[in-house]
Amino acid sequence: MDASQPFAASPLADAGLNLHAVFNLADLPAGLRQSLADAGPGRDNYRQLILIGHGGRRLWQAVQAAHPPGPDPIDTFTVQTLQDWFARHYPSARYTLLYPAPDSAPGVGLQSLGELAGWHQPGPFMLGVRADWGSWFAYRAVILADTAFAPTPAYAAPPPCASCAGRPCVAACPGGAMATGQFSLTACVPYRKAKDSACKATCLARLACPVGAEHRYDAAQLAHTYGISMAAIEAWY
Ligand code: SF4
Ligand code: SF4
Repeated sequence: MDASQPFAASPLADAGLNLHAVFNLADLPAGLRQSLADAGPGRDNYRQLILIGHGGRRLWQAVQAAHPPGPDPIDTFTVQTLQDWFARHYPSARYTLLYPAPDSAPGVGLQSLGELAGWHQPGPFMLGVRADWGSWFAYRAVILADTAFAPTPAYAAPPPCASCAGRPCVAACPGGAMATGQFSLTACVPYRKAKDSACKATCLARLACPVGAEHRYDAAQLAHTYGISMAAIEAWY
């Protein structure tokens, strides 16, 4: 493969989409390739898979400035930004967006891709915790494309939770969701649903983690993020 095609990272980073990982489809684990192929015709007929994420507050600031329409402004903004990026920098590239896509499942787990990219380092409260961004990052898009970017080496910093002796996140959880040493959704959910819950629009355990604390979301972004999960909880539990 010609790996000389430059990856235009700056325009994405300027929009807050500042985490990127490129994989050659041929190099993905066989099971992952198979689940892509099973999820829709032609999905295994691309050269590369591109994982896009955001770390920190920049994306939320860019979304606020852009005021995109629709019920999920972050997804809308992400899709528009990526479409503009391809149109401007790679106008002849064939690509398809697997996630976010309103009408189809990505066909591959975001966290599985995060593990391959080295982004997902498990923490006590379900989310990944990275040395640079703490838990203040998220997966924003998965693209299949006939690009020829150099594959990205896996992020290899040591997992912060492995050397965190005090584990302040565990003690900070008012629902006792990590009290047994494993995360318990059946402890977290009832606490979040309780009338006087302090976790309606936030996660106190996440806030207590000192790693990447400078990248913590502001109150509005927390309210948006946890409002979505609270609505899902109300709908499903
Ligand atoms: S407080 Fe420690 S154990 Fe908890 S998420 Fe942060 S680094 Fe991991
Ligand atoms: S949302 Fe609240 S109850 Fe659930 S894990 Fe976070 S701190 Fe604990």
